[in-house]
Amino acid sequence: MCNIEIVIMNNKVIIFSAPSGAGKSTVVNHLLGLHPELEFSISATSRAPRGQEKHGVEYYFFTSDEFRSMIAEDKFVEYEEVYAGSFYGTLRSEVERIWAKGHVIIFDIDVQGGVNLKRIFGEQAFSIFIQAPSVEVLRERLIGRGTDTPEAIEKRVAKAASEMEFAAGKFDYTLINDDLQTALAEAEHIVDVFLKK
Ligand code: 5GP
Repeated sequence: MCNIEIVIMNNKVIIFSAPSGAGKSTVVNHLLGLHPELEFSISATSRAPRGQEKHGVEYYFFTSDEFRSMIAEDKFVEYEEVYAGSFYGTLRSEVERIWAKGHVIIFDIDVQGGVNLKRIFGEQAFSIFIQAPSVEVLRERLIGRGTDTPEAIEKRVAKAASEMEFAAGKFDYTLINDDLQTALAEAEHIVDVFLKK
């Protein structure tokens, strides 16, 4: 815990939160491609890998029991039970790993986690909420992605609606992803301004 507090003095973090289907991964991947000094924080999760996901690439995958033990050992900067029975969290070791390289961390994290991280990192953090134009568009995007069951999609849509309500006013910036190219250009600009600060 001490190590993180010391390194916090010299490092920046960018926090992206959004309901799933709002286009967060697309925006994050676009920025990662533009700025070599940005590095994605790989979260730990107790959910099962989807599709081609691999341990140590998209997530560090653990069983629920392993995840609970790591909580008890205070290994997380923050964690949330994002969906019933599915834990997600940011490992202290991950933050240390990225900062040790002098990189700026990009977090892709749920709304509650984003608010928590902003509180922890304060002025060193730039927090961005990505909003999809409507709940209906969000549902269509999740169906189009084809990676979730209809039941899982309804769970995500219900969560998205409450997240949009909760997020209002709690982030440094709200990026509306109506037209993707416009949203990407806007993301580039606001991140440039933050990195040059
Ligand atoms: P997915 O299962 O679609 O990959 O992610 C579900 C949700 O968990 C997304 O909103 C994602 O941003 C969030 N998430 C991913 N990593 C973390 C984390 O480390 N902490 C928290 N609180 N949420 C996370």
